[in-house]
Amino acid sequence: LSTRLDISGAKDELKDLAHTFNNMMDKIEYSVELQNQFVSDASHELRTPISVIKGYTDLLDRWGKNNPEVLDESIDAIKNETEQMKSMIEKLLFLARGDKKSSHIEKNEFELNELIEEIYKETKLIAPNHNVVLGENEAIHIIADRNLIKEAIRVFVENSVKYTKEGGLIELGLHYEEPYAVITVKDTGLGIAKKDLSRIFDRFYRTDESRNKSSGGAGLGLSIAKWIAEEHKGKLTVTSELGKGSQFNILLLASKEK
Ligand code: ADP
Repeated sequence: LSTRLDISGAKDELKDLAHTFNNMMDKIEYSVELQNQFVSDASHELRTPISVIKGYTDLLDRWGKNNPEVLDESIDAIKNETEQMKSMIEKLLFLARGDKKSSHIEKNEFELNELIEEIYKETKLIAPNHNVVLGENEAIHIIADRNLIKEAIRVFVENSVKYTKEGGLIELGLHYEEPYAVITVKDTGLGIAKKDLSRIFDRFYRTDESRNKSSGGAGLGLSIAKWIAEEHKGKLTVTSELGKGSQFNILLLASKEK
């Protein structure tokens, strides 16, 4: 490569220097490659909400002017997608910077079971052809960043929808296991092979099974969920069997009593 120093015939000190230089170039090239990959994957992820927004603005343009129902629905959808995109961009920027500061985490008190209920209702809307059920939903009070926790659960739920055939089961649940609130998302979908289980939380990692599907994301969702769990001193666990289904859990420190 032209950016490398030729070390044949060089003196020892020069050789050392050239080695150092060449190693540095390797690292720089590798990080540029990662950066390019990141930008292209991030753009791909952002395309979906943009398409939804475009769809609704077309709808508005055609029917919305004289139809208050279409008007309301479109405005709501556009607002939602814009919010979603905003929060995704913030997280992409966070991941891109590799910035581990927790300054933009806003902890507040809320009822985790109410959030689960909310997500359950939304999931039924986004997956009308799946069998979405709400299992045990224990009353648990928690102090955490509600938006981020919602984002993490959504990653699991959206994956379950993506990787489970229509008609398949998606079960959401919440229970207490001292000292953790355990949020579970279970599906009867594709499942994940053992060899992949430890890697799916890595940035951009996708299994062969999911890459064969036309739908699907950039492999960022779980790394974001993992970051969110870690920022809350919680953890993510997964059990899965290829061809049978998966269960993802988010464990968050919480106390049962108020
Ligand atoms: P993606 O945007 O590709 O879904 P994620 O980081 O959310 O990215 O997930 C990484 C990979 O883990 C997915 O590409 C898929 O291979 C696998 N995966 C995640 N959730 C499930 C699930 N519920 N069932 C089967 N495979 C899953």
